[in-house]
Amino acid sequence: MSGKYDVIVVGAGLGGLSAAASLAKNGQKVLLLEKHYRPGGYAGSFVRGRFEFEIALHELSGLNLDAKRGFFYKYLENLGITKRIEFVKLDTVYRSVFSDMEVTVPAGREEAEGVLVDTFPKEAEGIKRFMARMSATNRALTLIQRGESFSNPEIKENFLPYLDKTLADVLQKDVKDPKARAVLSQLMGYCGLPPSELAYVIYAIVYDTYIHLGGAQIKGTSQSLVNAFVDIIQEADSEVRVNCGVKKILTEGDRVTGVVTENGETFLSDHIISNVNPLTTCAKMIGVDKVPSSFFEKLQTKEIAIGTMNVYLGLDAPHRELGIDEFEIFFNAGYDFDAAWAKSRVSLEPADFALATYNVAYPEASPPGTTAAVITTLSYAQPWYKVPPSEYVDTKNRMGEKLLNKLERFYPGVREHIEVIEVSTPLTNMRYTGNLGGSILGTPYSPNNIFGNRLPQQGPLKGLYFAGAWTQIGGGFQTCIMSGMLAAQTVMAQLMKK
Ligand SMILES: Cc1cc2nc3c(=O)[nH]c(=O)nc-3n(C[C@H](O)[C@H](O)[C@H](O)COP(=O)(O)OP(=O)(O)OC[C@H]3O[C@@H](n4cnc5c(N)ncnc54)[C@H](O)[C@@H]3O)c2cc1C
Repeated sequence: MSGKYDVIVVGAGLGGLSAAASLAKNGQKVLLLEKHYRPGGYAGSFVRGRFEFEIALHELSGLNLDAKRGFFYKYLENLGITKRIEFVKLDTVYRSVFSDMEVTVPAGREEAEGVLVDTFPKEAEGIKRFMARMSATNRALTLIQRGESFSNPEIKENFLPYLDKTLADVLQKDVKDPKARAVLSQLMGYCGLPPSELAYVIYAIVYDTYIHLGGAQIKGTSQSLVNAFVDIIQEADSEVRVNCGVKKILTEGDRVTGVVTENGETFLSDHIISNVNPLTTCAKMIGVDKVPSSFFEKLQTKEIAIGTMNVYLGLDAPHRELGIDEFEIFFNAGYDFDAAWAKSRVSLEPADFALATYNVAYPEASPPGTTAAVITTLSYAQPWYKVPPSEYVDTKNRMGEKLLNKLERFYPGVREHIEVIEVSTPLTNMRYTGNLGGSILGTPYSPNNIFGNRLPQQGPLKGLYFAGAWTQIGGGFQTCIMSGMLAAQTVMAQLMKK
């Protein structure tokens, strides 16, 4: 037996790191165990040749870098993150490209609305109404977070009636032009569902927040954020171990007591936070017979959210020379996002994609005279499961080629500048993080799976808690970091009771 800790955290994704840092800062002795050789899960970087690639982050949401305030900023500041790393505010939120039009939506409410209204003058009133509606919904959430009662008129009017609505339900009432609707729905990819399935409330919060605050990048990739979390945990006399997967979570009756690692070490604790998806945690690490069946019944009602396919590109020319001058550009095959999504459920063929070019955010993203960029398309694991293992590498490279061909239509000759290329699929996501289906957001943000309907931080056994995309608040950098904070608070509440 190797020791007893106040809290053990399993998995060093953003949820696990945030929970561990928060608890360590609160004086708890924490042991954070990570299976991979690198902490971070999806957050972080990898190196190919002379390029260090951001694995995941396109745009960090919710960070008020101008005013240095707001709940998320203050949480990171109090942990000591903001003084250790440099965030960069992105001037534009996104560029939407279609075959017959393109538009760049800047950060700033008035600026964004101005551009959208200028682009679709006939829809001016509807666009203004929809954007005001989203802002009101977002503001109502802030009131709820501040503890206002549900009888508050703003919450009653702008939040509660929308809880069962999809983005399409609300948008089609305000805006009639399918092109304007598509541009306004463009960030649905960040929320992992098409307009007809995505919870309006989530989209409103996400869209309005990006527009108000702008998205952010992290100098030195999100690995520097991850490393800052690790430093904070270690400086508070807690431990982070990599290459140290957890094989088993030990139980006694209805409570957890410790973990056994894949290396055969045993660590004890009455409080275990799992950053690993709840099905694997409960079925594999604990055992189906030891967890109430009602928990698995609840899990069965949940879908698995979409994953990604990425083509990471190290280019031997500056981005401006290649004609790339904006950070996040969405290339859309058509205006019907629901139809494109339906295809991605059954087909490997990539349709729509985004190009994130990191040197646009900060020039040092790659060596001088070069460009680090990534093509990302959303992709479900199911079609990939059907590819025989012997054909996987060829198939993945073929799909990568298809994405490159699509990119070349917009940037002729870009292929000749490829110095390094790496392709990932939902199966890569699964392999490196253990997430079911390579999901990047845990379970999807459908109206029946938001807020209190998602799994809570408190798990089905005493002393077991969850952090990360599969639980509340949901998937994404900001939300997973906040989920870790919530898990830490739940543990602290239990410890205080004692
Ligand atoms: C390509 C891509 C682009 C993205 N873009 C954005 C974006 O622009 N903005 C945004 O907000 N979000 C984005 N996301 C989503 C975001 O990255 C994820 O939602 C978030 O990072 C998930 O964090 P998590 O806490 O759930 O942990 P995960 O990242 O899922 O990590 C779980 C950790 O647990 C470890 N683990 C698994 N099994 C064990 C075990 N048995 N023992 C110990 N450790 C174990 C894994 O190795 C891993 O480190 C993107 C994701 C991807 C893949």
